[in-house]
Amino acid sequence: MVACPCSEHHDTRRMVLTGGPGAGKTAVLEIVRRSLCEHVRVLPEAASIVFGGGFPREDDPQCRRAAQLAIFHVQRQLEATGDAHNAAIVLCDRGTVDGLAYWPASAEDFWASTGTTLEAELERYDAVVHLRTPAAEQGYNRQNPVRIESAAAAAEIDARILRIWAPHPRRHLVEASGDFLDKAAATLAILRHELPECCAHHVRSALPEVGR
Ligand SMILES: [Zn+2]
Ligand SMILES: [Zn+2]
Repeated sequence: MVACPCSEHHDTRRMVLTGGPGAGKTAVLEIVRRSLCEHVRVLPEAASIVFGGGFPREDDPQCRRAAQLAIFHVQRQLEATGDAHNAAIVLCDRGTVDGLAYWPASAEDFWASTGTTLEAELERYDAVVHLRTPAAEQGYNRQNPVRIESAAAAAEIDARILRIWAPHPRRHLVEASGDFLDKAAATLAILRHELPECCAHHVRSALPEVGR
């Protein structure tokens, strides 16, 4: 985070960075953290907290439901912490509706189990950035130990996430390209556009040195 002298009150905008497995979200978020001012608050990924914390990751429907409900509620409460510090932007690493892409039953069942609706959940977010998962030949990344999906399954999840967020009125798609720095630059441009004027002139004008 870049220190920011802004002391204005911010109307916090909640945004989501989503995408299928292997889309490069984690690396892009690292660049966002280093490039934008301290009033852009990046939340951790609920699934990583839940599974990284030892929640059983089993493939049977009952365990998948339990895991997705745990992730849903962790996400809700992460967002509550994000609202607490006069952030200009709270950037969520996926949102509450992403769980539907991993749900072992119907969408109706997901909404009944979470006690909400797609419309209500989409309204939680001012804007959405979807990083597309690269096809296998474009360098799908399996280095994250929490990722166990194959490239084909990852593409399928990416397509599901794409459909789930489709009704959102302010969704930006960042297509999979060979170079993740292009994705990072595209994501930063979207975020800079969302930053209020009071903070916008404090953000760095160039990407930091990363792997080049
Ligand atoms: Zn500001
Ligand atoms: Zn700021």
